Amino acid sequence: MLFKKVTTSDVKTIALVAHDNMKPALMDWVVAHKDKLMPHKLYATGTTGSVLEQKTGMTINKLISGPLGGDQQIGALITEQVIDVMIFFWDPLEAQPHDPDVKALLRLAAVWNIPVACNVATADLLITSSLFDKPFDKNIPDYERYLCERTQ
Ligand code: PGA
Repeated sequence: MLFKKVTTSDVKTIALVAHDNMKPALMDWVVAHKDKLMPHKLYATGTTGSVLEQKTGMTINKLISGPLGGDQQIGALITEQVIDVMIFFWDPLEAQPHDPDVKALLRLAAVWNIPVACNVATADLLITSSLFDKPFDKNIPDYERYLCERTQ
């Protein structure tokens, strides 16, 4: 794969997703970091986003619920380079009906070099990074060159 360097904006677009057993942990995390999160643009799967809005009063771009396709919507936004950071508290102790979608979302996040936190400790490290509010460089797949190579 050929890569190209891109620079993220200082204002990040953040995807928030939590499986049901993990929602309380994500709620607590968002409340604890509300001031830091406020300037950024937030997306969430349907139920996560609705609960977050009720609990924090923050404005969230709500997609459809995860098991109905919300994980795939986030994956699509990753490929469109809309999402800069993903906080995804997936449940390591309970099988999910949409496990293929969960795997697909984590795979796309890896392909597109998205910083991902799957637990509170990593989310804490990410949000306290000095780069969280600043532009930073990263490599992503160079689709134009990828297409060129495959169509010649
Ligand atoms: P939900 O989806 O926010 O609609 O619960 C999360 C998920 O299971 O992916």
